[in-house]
Amino acid sequence: LYSTLSMSPKLQTGVVSSSVSRPRKVAAQKVSVNNRAGPSLRSQGNNAPTLQKPAQGSVGGHDAKLVEMINSVIVDRSPSVKWDDIAGLEMAKQALTEMVILPTKRRDLFTGLLLFGPPGTGKTLLAKAVASESEATFFNVSASSLTSKWVGEGEKLVRTLFQVAISRQPSVIFIDEIDSIMSTRTENENEASRRLKSEFLVQFDGVASNSGDLVTVIGATNKPQELDDAVLRRLVKRIYIPLPDANARRVLLKHKLKGRAFSLPDRDVERLVAETDGYSGSDLQALCEEAAMMPIRELGADILTVQANQVRKLRYGDFQKAMTVIKPSLQRSKWAELERWNREFGSN
Ligand code: ADP
Repeated sequence: LYSTLSMSPKLQTGVVSSSVSRPRKVAAQKVSVNNRAGPSLRSQGNNAPTLQKPAQGSVGGHDAKLVEMINSVIVDRSPSVKWDDIAGLEMAKQALTEMVILPTKRRDLFTGLLLFGPPGTGKTLLAKAVASESEATFFNVSASSLTSKWVGEGEKLVRTLFQVAISRQPSVIFIDEIDSIMSTRTENENEASRRLKSEFLVQFDGVASNSGDLVTVIGATNKPQELDDAVLRRLVKRIYIPLPDANARRVLLKHKLKGRAFSLPDRDVERLVAETDGYSGSDLQALCEEAAMMPIRELGADILTVQANQVRKLRYGDFQKAMTVIKPSLQRSKWAELERWNREFGSN
């Protein structure tokens, strides 16, 4: 049963139709972090590991431990998300395709980009698709981990991150929850986070002003109104990623329910589409998982002996029950706030 409902992050190609054309390929360049880094840190295009670990000390002036951490934890070697894997969001896909097709021609526009909208709506998927379609190295950074896990080292990590990204360009640096390091809030702001913030801006300006660097920074947030002006000015293109509309919810639900356990007639699917207004993509995923548990829970002790094909199929009532547990994670008021911000500051 689970296999039929497995929530693979990579949806099957062709599930969602898209008019986005295939981008041209961007050749990976080889650039070492600096002259001293030559023998230790090598860029080998998109996939190859870059660090030949020195016995100790630093790599081209950068902390070897940090470089290794970036290569092993932050670099996602194979995002392999295609435009077609993302339901709906046609306007966003169209805008992002320009980034992939014109990475060198419009550096002014494409060094910094903000994806904002409710959580679980596909922002990470889109950033991965940009990297994957342009064959760029993908650096996946959770901003909150910069402040929690790397207390005191955040600034150094940011500096090293940009250097590694330059050495492995073309690169996409994705900073999730960018508001957590780049907010205007000053209360509780300590010296370390102020330094982290200004280091980020310095590094950002470095890659933006060097036309030879193919490094794109994509920030994501669900609280764009909290972002510092200095960062907003740099993230010139701001794309709103809204909750899925009815069409996108239909595609997502149908995809997630594909398989043997799917026995809902179209009429019920349409009821579900209507009733899940306000659910994000990840809420819908959680809803399907919860509904899929209903027939299994009914088995009680038999769960250990029953054959997979004896488990009853899912029905509409399972979703109704699941909806009492899994509710939209975004409050309506927050949603309206995001729409207002989009009207005032968004690019679309
Ligand atoms: P965000 O970065 O906006 O918080 P993600 O891109 O991480 O959200 O999406 C979380 C999960 O929800 C994805 O792995 C995917 O399974 C599902 N999802 C959300 N939006 C979409 C979408 N538009 N198309 C396909 N899957 C989606």
